[in-house]
Amino acid sequence: MLVTKYVVVVGGVVSGVGKGVTTAALGKIIKEHGYTTALIKIDPYINYDAGTLRPTEHGEVWVTDDGGEIDQDLGTYERFMNANFSRRNNITTGQVYKAVIDRERRGEYLGQTVQFIPHILDEIVARVAAVAEDNEVVIIEVGGTVGDYENKPFLFALRALERELGQKNVAYVLVAYLPVPSHIGEMKTKPVQQSIKLLNEEGICPDFIICRSQHAIDDVRREKIEAYSYVPADRIIAAPDVATIYQIPLDLEREQVGTKLLASLGLTSRRTPDWSSWQQMVTTIQKPHKTVRIAVIGKYVQIGDFSLVDSYLSIDQALLHAGVELNSGIKISWIDAQSFEQDPTKLASLEQFDGILVPGGFGTSGVEGKIAAIEYAREHKIPYLGICYGMQLAVVEYARHVARLPDAHTTEVMPECQTPVVAILPLQQQLLASGWYGGTMRLGSYSAHVEPDSVVYRLYSQAGRVAADGTVAERHRHRYEVNPLYVPVLKKHGLIFSGVTQRADGTELAEFIELADHPFFVAAQAHPEFTSRLGNPNPLFQAFVAACLQRVLQRAAAASAQAVPYKPFDYGQIRQATQ
Ligand code: GLN
Repeated sequence: MLVTKYVVVVGGVVSGVGKGVTTAALGKIIKEHGYTTALIKIDPYINYDAGTLRPTEHGEVWVTDDGGEIDQDLGTYERFMNANFSRRNNITTGQVYKAVIDRERRGEYLGQTVQFIPHILDEIVARVAAVAEDNEVVIIEVGGTVGDYENKPFLFALRALERELGQKNVAYVLVAYLPVPSHIGEMKTKPVQQSIKLLNEEGICPDFIICRSQHAIDDVRREKIEAYSYVPADRIIAAPDVATIYQIPLDLEREQVGTKLLASLGLTSRRTPDWSSWQQMVTTIQKPHKTVRIAVIGKYVQIGDFSLVDSYLSIDQALLHAGVELNSGIKISWIDAQSFEQDPTKLASLEQFDGILVPGGFGTSGVEGKIAAIEYAREHKIPYLGICYGMQLAVVEYARHVARLPDAHTTEVMPECQTPVVAILPLQQQLLASGWYGGTMRLGSYSAHVEPDSVVYRLYSQAGRVAADGTVAERHRHRYEVNPLYVPVLKKHGLIFSGVTQRADGTELAEFIELADHPFFVAAQAHPEFTSRLGNPNPLFQAFVAACLQRVLQRAAAASAQAVPYKPFDYGQIRQATQ
């Protein structure tokens, strides 16, 4: 049996140079060369996981099938690899110390002094080894930058692993940044040299250096780094800025990174990768045939340089993947829901969009603005996709305006509400305590039974995503649920509940809703964006973008004065449109 090989990716000079994307690209490349590959993200922070981190500072929280709440790099890995990783693929300082301290409290160290060496190191190595089990190559991204105090324990532990396994089984990749100071206009190698020195201080010599910069590194500088690091010039890899991150595996393969990395681990490529369909998708991203305009109605918070896209990164990516499949570009307008509360006349501006999306969210701010936007989408027959809070608020909107329950609300916003159509359900507290919800939220993948004649069923079945038992699985991250008490009255007024999950006590929890007589109005309690991959888009996103495209066509036809009668959206066409 093959020994698992390890690739350790560390960052140099500054953070935010695309270490996560590089790791994901390396994983994709090694997989394409025929090896089973898993990726691990090490986050040196003390937090147990990313669940409690503020999305406005750290970007969105990524949720795994098994309910892990993780840094968004894991999302990048899954999107590139078209794989589902476990919470085990993320290791934090908090998890390591908590496991060791819990063991100590249970008396399992039998009176030993519990120390950094060997106990903490052993715990780190054991966690890495647990992921390695079924994989031939494991790529480990060490968060932070070399020289940080926080990542020293991890570098030390990985070096211990190397001593155990031998140099041939571990390769180190330094992803470093080469600045081009504007007043000099010349690429500088000094910071990289210093990063190499810091890495050497940890007893590590890089096997590869990935040179991130504005443009490709030239031979003069390559030689300079070679002389300093003893890394051969052909392992000093150019990684210039790119228009789309999905270009990176192609760029790295142009420098034969796959075969070189495998060779450094004593392996040879098992098959020549065929990058043609990936290349095709990258070309579509860069030069789409058409573009749809989508309004994402969110909670806009301005904190320093924080970018809103970061906290909705997976939505942005899921729309992009769906667009690629339909040869279409996506132009997203991030709209602050509160702007509709301050000035309701602004709602009319939604008419210009081809689709409206209300993403997940928490708390009270902007809620009435989101509800007003959903009402606008419903009444003006603009394609609508609701995600998590976007489904709960669609239920509130429908209850108020169609089912004639004017006081309807979610207890998240109005705890004493008389018509709680979305609420924390009775018994839920006990279930929370008994662990059914895994903490305080319904987290991770849950399977829904879907009505066979629903739009949702048709879409998942066309995508081959209905399980043998007829269920559809998506990942969740929420506390509140649609209140089953109000489901009959909502159904009576035409709201279609297309999928439900049976809770342990028999309660049926709404998972998907949809409307008939609308071009596209679908919402999910889960987060379908977490199962969207480049080349394997999520069916709800794909159908939403397809409906948006149809609106573009109808608009174009109307502009050319050829009146086209309203035609309900034909879901059967999606397959064809994608081929
Ligand atoms: N705030 C809602 C809840 O907790 C929705 C959460 C979400 O959109 N992720 O149930």
